[in-house]
Amino acid sequence: KKITIAIDGFSSTGKSTLAKQLANHLGYVYVDTGAMYRAVAFFAMQNGYISTDFFEKESLINSLPFIRLQFKFNADLGFAEMYLNDVNVETEIRTIEVSRFVSKVAEVSEVRSKLVEQQKEMGKDKAIVMDGRDIGTVVFPDAELKIFMTSSATTRAQRRYDELVQKGDAVTFEDVLKNVEERDYIDTHREDSPLVMADDAIEIDNSHLNRKEQFDLVLELVTD
Ligand code: C5P
Repeated sequence: KKITIAIDGFSSTGKSTLAKQLANHLGYVYVDTGAMYRAVAFFAMQNGYISTDFFEKESLINSLPFIRLQFKFNADLGFAEMYLNDVNVETEIRTIEVSRFVSKVAEVSEVRSKLVEQQKEMGKDKAIVMDGRDIGTVVFPDAELKIFMTSSATTRAQRRYDELVQKGDAVTFEDVLKNVEERDYIDTHREDSPLVMADDAIEIDNSHLNRKEQFDLVLELVTD
């Protein structure tokens, strides 16, 4: 039986790693909805709509019809990469600059409704693992399996810091921790679809679980 699996939770809880592993194992499609919000944020930065001290929301809203987001599967990497208006932006959307602005962009209702609509469409045939913040609550409230991942802010910041350093980004741990905490705050306090755990989600605190332990735990839930 093919099902819909929704994985939500805070930034850098390892949602996407787990979701990718699950999708590969089950032969499901994996959709990283954070990549879509990141691509919109990147678009806003490229067009000068957002910076540290301003955000021209209206300009972004007016541009939404001209933002085309696609996932294209890269067989060598084993996952789909994000394309913004036919340009591969997979690397660009993972920088700390985009992380700084993405939650502000994700607060805009018009942005959310556009992306949510596209996400619903992608999942309509089931056999999908989708991760984000509002998948179990807004995108697929009827998902058969909902996971909500948590872990302490310092654990999450350490993971994100290690990733960025490995990629050669010049960041400090304090910067990354601050960014994780800021995004937690904005994500949980925004008016439109704030980050909350769905009533019927299963919470996994992975502060003390390695990847294999998390994977085994969730796989058991899938086969139940
Ligand atoms: O998952 P990731 O950390 O890449 O997501 C980047 C940001 O996009 C989040 O901090 C959040 O503000 C926003 N987001 C969202 N809803 C989703 C996925 C991501 O608001 N479903």
